[in-house]
Amino acid sequence: AVQNNPHTTLVTPTAPIANDTHGGRAKCLQRLVRLELPVPRTVALSFDAVQRIARGEMPDIAAIVSQFPNGALLCVRPSSEDPDWGGPGAVLNIGMNEARFTALAERLGDAAARAIYTRFVENYAVDVARLDPDVFEDVEGDGPDGLAEALRAYEAELEEPFPGDPAEQLAAVLKSMARAWDGTSARLLRQAKGAPVDAGLGLVVQEMALGLGHGECGSGLLQLVDGETGLPQITGRYLSQSQGRDALAANAAALYLGRDPRGPSLEELAPDAFRALKSHAELMRVKLREEMQVEFVIENGQLFILDGVRVARSSQASVRIAVQLAEDKIISRAEALMRVQPRTLSELLHRQISPLAKRDVIGRGIAASPGAATGHIVFTAAEAQASAARGDPCILVRRETSPEDIRGMHAAHAVLTERGGITSHAAVIGRGIGLPCVVGASNIRFSPSKKQLVARDGRVFAAGEIITIDGSSGQVLAGAPKMREAALDESFQKLMEWASDHCDIGIRANADTPADAQTARNFDAQGIGLCRTEHMFFEPGRLTVMREMIFAETSEDRRAVLERLLPMQRADFTQLFRIMEGRPVCIRLFDPPLHEFLPTDRARQRELAEALDLPLSDVTRRIDSMSEYNPMLGLRGVRLGVTVPEIYEMQARAIFEATIAASAEGLVVVPEIMIPLVSARREVELVKTFIDAVAAAVRTELDQPFDYRLGVMVETPRAALRAAEIAPHCAFLSFGTNDLTQMTYGLSRDDAGRFMSDYVQQGVFPEDPFHVLDTDGVGELLKLGAERGRAAQPDVTLSICGEHGGNPESISFCRDAEFDYVSCSPFRVPVARLAAAQLAI
Ligand code: PEP
Ligand code: MG
Repeated sequence: AVQNNPHTTLVTPTAPIANDTHGGRAKCLQRLVRLELPVPRTVALSFDAVQRIARGEMPDIAAIVSQFPNGALLCVRPSSEDPDWGGPGAVLNIGMNEARFTALAERLGDAAARAIYTRFVENYAVDVARLDPDVFEDVEGDGPDGLAEALRAYEAELEEPFPGDPAEQLAAVLKSMARAWDGTSARLLRQAKGAPVDAGLGLVVQEMALGLGHGECGSGLLQLVDGETGLPQITGRYLSQSQGRDALAANAAALYLGRDPRGPSLEELAPDAFRALKSHAELMRVKLREEMQVEFVIENGQLFILDGVRVARSSQASVRIAVQLAEDKIISRAEALMRVQPRTLSELLHRQISPLAKRDVIGRGIAASPGAATGHIVFTAAEAQASAARGDPCILVRRETSPEDIRGMHAAHAVLTERGGITSHAAVIGRGIGLPCVVGASNIRFSPSKKQLVARDGRVFAAGEIITIDGSSGQVLAGAPKMREAALDESFQKLMEWASDHCDIGIRANADTPADAQTARNFDAQGIGLCRTEHMFFEPGRLTVMREMIFAETSEDRRAVLERLLPMQRADFTQLFRIMEGRPVCIRLFDPPLHEFLPTDRARQRELAEALDLPLSDVTRRIDSMSEYNPMLGLRGVRLGVTVPEIYEMQARAIFEATIAASAEGLVVVPEIMIPLVSARREVELVKTFIDAVAAAVRTELDQPFDYRLGVMVETPRAALRAAEIAPHCAFLSFGTNDLTQMTYGLSRDDAGRFMSDYVQQGVFPEDPFHVLDTDGVGELLKLGAERGRAAQPDVTLSICGEHGGNPESISFCRDAEFDYVSCSPFRVPVARLAAAQLAI
């Protein structure tokens, strides 16, 4: 009956068993049976059968029992579709009763028989009859009275004798496990792990391999790699005279497996069984095409394989295992690429809090730049620099950061801000330089004046105290949890090379400084997609010159300051071209929200007055006169280029002179110049005219030819809508999705952090649109802009350079819309490349 019933099937090489009908364990056992491994006889119950059992419709128990040798003990184990979804605990030794006890005692000895029976009574009482485990607290498993005590305890609690009929026991076990799967907490637990609402449970009924008795008996687990590093290393434990997972119990005097410096091993104790076990595990690796953890039992020297599950692994190990399987030709390179989650890579690129560490969370914000760092709290950039000079790691804590904090950010190990969202200054800079960063931590109270933070539970953290920032989760933690180092090993490099072979969309990096560009090159970015030139002025010496320029009242004054900026910019660009070795470099002309460059507090304003040799009142008056109600929608980007063309002229000249200098070194450089915040065709025409004039002048003055490509950043809704009239003037259109998201939603990118989590929690937005591209709204503008631009100018290069550029979802969108490349922060380049490769496979 069992063989003919697809819902209650003996596991044979040909039985109709699948992951989605009988669960992963049943399927895996069938594979092991096909490999002719010594698997105890097994019957698999389908999801359907188990569902019916939960409703009280029992299968033919006698038919199941008849599949096993007379008198055999059985165990039942869960078989969910994905082993991660869990399931009820296994019940072992089903079928024990007085008669079998007597028989077993003869065969295995009295102590072993007692231990098996006692374990079953307890297991059954707790998991099936739902008694409190405390009832058995004092029972000694293999002691002479333990069994009697356990039976007495059971009968006293339930006021009925312990069931002796094996079929009745099995039916009760099946029913109890089927019902446990429907329990609320089990359901919530698996749904949290990604299981669908209607996830099914299969069960496997297996003949027990006992692990107790005469000769060498025991149970254990083995795997061929270390789950933490992914390196080949026989790992596992074995415990003589044991069952189930006894060998893993913390206080068990278990053996290691292969020869092990930590202590005696199975290899020494039972070399033949160990050799067979190792060769079975190697066969499983090859045939199941995965690193497996093998559960085994030795019964009087004879080996049984009970199960295999995918080895649990860290991010680093997941890359190493996938690459090694491909290197050994067990899986293809494409499959290795598919097996690594892009997000896993971003964990590898940064230090992380160890998954085993205790987390004392004192608050949380937006996870703005991944990685974790520990240090003592400082409240100013100057203190961060002083701390770095002493070699003391620190965390820079600010309400929000501004260009003045750049040096401090470089000096700090992480940054925490009260305000801001995923595209705020701190977040953008943090990602650019690979600095862990949490922004918008509004549930922590920031008191810079008192130099303290007040956690949500009232604890106070003063300057100098140690905290940890987890920029991957957004958590702020007290103290110094254990860390795991970044791991850019050979496997990572190989995986990246294979990804490049499959990638069919370009991946560039957003890089502002030579250091960023070097990181981009190290990750093999195909060019720079966005160099935000205003970030080049964030160094203290330059900041003052920049401020002088902003303060200049006349065109002559301004030109004089620009003459001093020109050589600095020329040197910057020459260096970028050098580092990128002829790969494209897209330089965006100055796009300041000007206010970001001006000091807001009195002390700094006084410093500026001193540096400019002006009365303080002049400085404050000028700052007031330039203040805007809405600077992000004010005199920014091309609007500055149109009204104060000298700045763009200086930058164009610096770019062209650097082009000639780099070309003289043998590089082929065709710079790309990008105009920010365009909303009208005329803006492009005006800027193009004077940049062409600068190009002509430089060509004549230096008597050197060069080409350049001029393009437009599409980051206002109007530029996207009017792409047809803008594109004919440009070689490329690059979508700036940060501003485009801000303007499409009418949502300030610097302030949205305050309420974004409420919005996401209440389902108003599915995700923070500054983080995950809003393909419906902003995406429609991208599509429109791309279509209209391309129709008017078929050769136009299309790309995206907002913070979304590195997200797998946005990359998929850009591939579908046939964009030429995406550009993202340097540390996201590997993630983007893997995601793009996976989309292409
Ligand atoms: C953008 O707006 O998407 C962009 C890349 O520019 P920024 O973030 O510098 O405004
Ligand atoms: Mg922008």
